Amino acid sequence: MTDQPYDEPTPQESLDPENWEEFRAQARRMLDAAIDRMQASRQGRVWTELPGDIKDALKAPLPHEGWGTEDVMERMETLMPYGAGNTNPRFFGWVHGSGTPSNLLADIAASAMNANVGGRDHGAIYVEKQVIRWCRELFEFPETASGIVVSGTSMATIIAMKVARDVRLGFVSRKEGVCGHGLVGYTSTETHSCVARAFDLIGLGTNALRRIPANDRFEIDMDALRAAIAKDREAGLTPFVVIGTAGTVNVGAIDPLEELADLAAEESLWFHIDGAFGSLGVLSERVKDRLTGVKRADSLAFDFHKWLHVNYDAGFALIRDETLHRAAFTDRPDYLKAKERGLAGGNPWPVEYGPELSRGFRALKVWAQFAEFGTERLGRMITRNCYQASYLGEQVEKTPGLELMAPVALNICCFRYAEPGLGDAVLDAMNDEIVIQLQEQGIAAPSTTRLKGRLAIRVNITNHRTARKDLDILLQEVLRISASPEVTAVRDKALAGLNG
Ligand SMILES: *Cc1c(COP(=O)(O)O)cnc(C)c1O
Repeated sequence: MTDQPYDEPTPQESLDPENWEEFRAQARRMLDAAIDRMQASRQGRVWTELPGDIKDALKAPLPHEGWGTEDVMERMETLMPYGAGNTNPRFFGWVHGSGTPSNLLADIAASAMNANVGGRDHGAIYVEKQVIRWCRELFEFPETASGIVVSGTSMATIIAMKVARDVRLGFVSRKEGVCGHGLVGYTSTETHSCVARAFDLIGLGTNALRRIPANDRFEIDMDALRAAIAKDREAGLTPFVVIGTAGTVNVGAIDPLEELADLAAEESLWFHIDGAFGSLGVLSERVKDRLTGVKRADSLAFDFHKWLHVNYDAGFALIRDETLHRAAFTDRPDYLKAKERGLAGGNPWPVEYGPELSRGFRALKVWAQFAEFGTERLGRMITRNCYQASYLGEQVEKTPGLELMAPVALNICCFRYAEPGLGDAVLDAMNDEIVIQLQEQGIAAPSTTRLKGRLAIRVNITNHRTARKDLDILLQEVLRISASPEVTAVRDKALAGLNG
């Protein structure tokens, strides 16, 4: 461009639209495309691999001269159909929320404000504070509890473990680190890997996390837990935290939370709960009686983007004692000092409750989801999914050739195709192929896991669009595909491998 480098940019050089009316029309077109996309959630294939030409286009070098709005809009519109498929009612993989069209609106408003929610005194801060109060209320935590909206349960777990660590070490660990700490924590073998990652990231190392065996219902074995704590104390180590799960990732099991809370009190341990999706069961008539222990936790990590269907990403760290939470993170250099008045007011700032300084306005879409739908309706969605998982479990048990792999505890059903007379190694290979075929044919998207060493087709239902007919289709298709040439070829190859 040829304009003066130090003067106001020309309309062509500006990063604002040259023509606002034209931009308005383009934005409306994009909004329509986005709404079309969500309106079509129930139709078509679940997952489609990104076509080669789009993959290639995404290898283009860094643009020196911009491509312009039209070109970029077209590329985004072309991309939109190629999500993971989690807005579709037959997406059953891992634990994904299915999102809402309404959340598009919150994202637009948040983006327009372009708020940095690390601190200061402005509208977004008050929205997040209301979300914090609502979360306190939701889980019956005291007035003195604090919290922070984060990317997800993984980040929330890191925050909670850091607070627990620093509390036990009297906060000197913040300056001196944790060399020779001797701290050990306890959780079950069924716990999500984000807890071990948190131990790694806060310098304790993953060996400091003891993996206690689970019982037949995939819940932590309390006797084994007590024995492990006693053994570590005898060895001169310092037990500091016990982590229970409300809704395990493999089968949706709920650890005995009340018993864990009692044990933590007796042993003076921090009690943390990973409630990524399952803790939201407090909103469901069918589940809430099994979650009475949640309110006794010292900290709780959970997601809005799973069973509350907030569009990605949003999770939360809820800490029972605000002073301990703040003491683990506060650190305000001169350029971030608080003021009584003006824009630098609004204390305390979110930066004092987590590792991030600049943060986006995730809280708005969370706020909007609660505000628009209310907890009763969101809770009914959760209840519905639990009934659906039970229904699927019953159908599996009624169907010759299918085998239920774990009791249905919540919203997850694990089963496999089990042709009589075939060993586990062959069945593992066949079930793996069945799942890949379901995904690649665009029919459904379950995932797999291993239970007691055997591969299971894992159907997780955190999806407000799923209906019973989707589960019927899934089972019909599993049976059809199990007899297809692709799967019988896998069976024959596995059998030949065993005999060869
Ligand atoms: C999804 C999940 C996590 C991790 O949460 P993210 O939001 O993906 O970081 C942790 N624990 C359980 C039980 C989960 O289901």
